[in-house]
Amino acid sequence: MISVEQALNTILSHIKQLGTERVDILGGLGRVLAEDIYAPFNVPRFDNSAMDGYAVKFTDLKGASADSPVRLRVTGDLPAGHSISQSLKSGEAVRIMTGAPIPEGADTVIMQEDTRADGDMVAIFNPGFSGSHIRRAGEDIKKADRLFQTGTKLRPAQTGILASVKRAFITVYQRPRVAIVSTGDELVDIDEDITEGKIVSSNSYSLSALVTESGGIPLTLGIARDTKEALRDKILQGLHADIILSSGGVSVGDYDFVKDVLADLGIDMKFWKVSMRPGKPLAFGTIGGKPTFGLPGNPVSAMISFEQFVRPAIRKMSGHRNLFRTIVSAVCEEKTTTRKGKKYFIRCSIKCKNDGCHVSTTGNQGSGILMSMAEANGLMIVPEDQETVNAGDTVKVQILDDEFGFTDQPKY
Ligand code: AMP
Ligand code: MG
Repeated sequence: MISVEQALNTILSHIKQLGTERVDILGGLGRVLAEDIYAPFNVPRFDNSAMDGYAVKFTDLKGASADSPVRLRVTGDLPAGHSISQSLKSGEAVRIMTGAPIPEGADTVIMQEDTRADGDMVAIFNPGFSGSHIRRAGEDIKKADRLFQTGTKLRPAQTGILASVKRAFITVYQRPRVAIVSTGDELVDIDEDITEGKIVSSNSYSLSALVTESGGIPLTLGIARDTKEALRDKILQGLHADIILSSGGVSVGDYDFVKDVLADLGIDMKFWKVSMRPGKPLAFGTIGGKPTFGLPGNPVSAMISFEQFVRPAIRKMSGHRNLFRTIVSAVCEEKTTTRKGKKYFIRCSIKCKNDGCHVSTTGNQGSGILMSMAEANGLMIVPEDQETVNAGDTVKVQILDDEFGFTDQPKY
């Protein structure tokens, strides 16, 4: 049996970045740039006022103070979005609003609070300094600068920059399409009657949700009955996708046909067991180069295996550089025992306060207990060589919830 680390390395060595596509600027949010972005012009394009006030010549303001203000004639009015052609002469000022271009001849802006208007004159009490309150052309973005490199994840600030330089369309990496096949005679879909001995195929939905949340496109292929033919049929459909996921039927039960069917389809099987808990049965290989995961059937095992192995694969395909969830240190609040030889992923609730992070389990750790997964915002990781975590021990916690760190009160 291979370790989690070995499994992850093997998987990622068979995952390639997908191709690229053009998307509109807002469609790019959360995606990864597949081109370098250069600035075609300066932003701002022109020197402009950082204040509402008056554009002046600094040399006109010598000795201006509250007691002896300098008086200038106001010869123009410049709202944002407008310009004037006349050049400012000595002894003159132009009324100017924030964002309006600095008129020719002016070199300084005096903010309104340091002035008093008086008919067509303005009294200036404080000269500031030469060049004050002017935003210079190119001070945000310089023409020809490289703004973003290939591999940059687009967040709203990047979106704003792209808009500033008129990039309505950009090239990003494609999102992988992920086929999801659920296996089991006991499964019904969400809109079917739950007859004797049947359960709803929750994995179809939790896995689809995980795919969406990790930036992939789920192709939910529904339920394959526990026959080789049914399974083969569904997996063949899945070959149109970029990744194939099945859940269930990968263990040693009498009707666990996933490995056989994958073998019939010519899979190059890399491994089918990982020393972890939950999630030991996990088949991975490639069919015609296509990464194929046989995830365990138990609802929690399927999700935790996805978190460890499929999410990083989807992120790598989508062009992300950071493939892995954050791991933080926390003080464990209760004693927990595990068995040596496997890496444990224990559903837990982690909270961080001023005195650091504290973690406790979310209860029953059975691999069918999805509620303790729902209540968890992290997975406490207990290494293979450890058997006991005592209250007070520092442990590692893999954060699962993107809401982690959000609080019900602002804590400035
Ligand atoms: P298996 O590995 O196929 O024996 O499945 C292990 C356990 O997971 C069984 O109790 C199954 O009923 C359950 N299971 C398998 N597939 C699903 C699914 N799609 N949704 C919910 N539970 C499932
Ligand atoms: Mg089954």
